Amino acid sequence: MKKKHIETIAIHGSMKKSVHENDTIVPGIEVSTIYEHRGGGYHEGDDKYIRLSNPNRSQLENVLSELENGADAAVFSSGMAAISSVFQSVDSGAHVLVPDDVYFGTRKLIWEFAKKWNLDVDFIDMTDLDAVRSSLKKNTKLVWLETPSNPRLLITDVIEVSKLAKDKGAVVAVDNTWPTPYNMRPLELGADLSVHSTTKYLGGHSDILGGAVITKSKDTFFEHIRLVQKVQGAVPSPRDCWLLSRSIRSFPYRMRAHNENARKVADFLSKHPKVEDVYYPGLDSHPGHEIAKVQMNDFGGMISFLIAGGYDEAVSIVGKSELIKAATSLGGIESIWEHRKSSEGEESPTPENLIRLSVGLEHPDDIIADLKQALNE
Ligand SMILES: *Cc1c(COP(=O)(O)O)cnc(C)c1O
Repeated sequence: MKKKHIETIAIHGSMKKSVHENDTIVPGIEVSTIYEHRGGGYHEGDDKYIRLSNPNRSQLENVLSELENGADAAVFSSGMAAISSVFQSVDSGAHVLVPDDVYFGTRKLIWEFAKKWNLDVDFIDMTDLDAVRSSLKKNTKLVWLETPSNPRLLITDVIEVSKLAKDKGAVVAVDNTWPTPYNMRPLELGADLSVHSTTKYLGGHSDILGGAVITKSKDTFFEHIRLVQKVQGAVPSPRDCWLLSRSIRSFPYRMRAHNENARKVADFLSKHPKVEDVYYPGLDSHPGHEIAKVQMNDFGGMISFLIAGGYDEAVSIVGKSELIKAATSLGGIESIWEHRKSSEGEESPTPENLIRLSVGLEHPDDIIADLKQALNE
């Protein structure tokens, strides 16, 4: 049969492997931590213990890997646990490349742990292919990508960077949290791994913490990620797996509306006199627009913009919204925004006048009306 579309996979991909033997359409939640060893002995392939396997977890891993055309997926109790599993699967002593505009938690993970794990990490401008070429070393084992990046929405050419990295035998991992499987499928562009904080768009309602690593092939690198999952045990509960699978069923339709609303909001902001610059890859003026058009289906729900003014002006504007809540995180149905520098802290390289906006699913006219009053008061 012809390969299914993403809307269809999202609905049916987590219904496989029914937990119960009766024919429910919607899978139940399997909460048991232990399983009976049939005939007294353990049989290879049987479920044994919840940390090692659970039907709801398998259903979730199945739908995630189908959504991105992967061979397999491993889910974790947070996005950071998923990211950490990748860095922990790199050989000790290896060299790693990371973009200099990267999610702050990833930066923090490297700052706190790279030395202990004996990883030699370089932060580089990943949008510059010459910089990538000249930074790759003989012992580069991992190239980490994030596109659009956080918080400046820089666009990296996944196809070209993957080719450069492959020439050196390095694994390419893409943090695909912001684009989501709806807007970008890194494994189809040449990457080996696609990593997610499922806390964001895949969960979509600001009520589940989770992470995932999707792999193009069941190779030894992924086997190690699976080992980290099972042995270190940062696994999501059956209930969270079930709830996330449920969220995923309507996710492509949510994503379409996030894309549509964000485009309208970005247009509005780019014409506003109090806004100095808007970072949204869907705008013609964005330096990565042409690459984004090639590798993305659409441009997502995240926008960062610079206020004409400094730290205090930006903070005060965020404080004036009525509909848009001031909060960190992203990808929920409700619009939220934040002054990113104050949430990342003093050591963060984020511009002081940058506001990051996660455009929700309220009516776009209502979101724009709120922005209008917050900017103009
Ligand atoms: C939120 C986020 C993470 C971390 O995920 P958690 O689920 O909060 O641990 C990683 N990468 C990106 C791009 C994110 O936005």
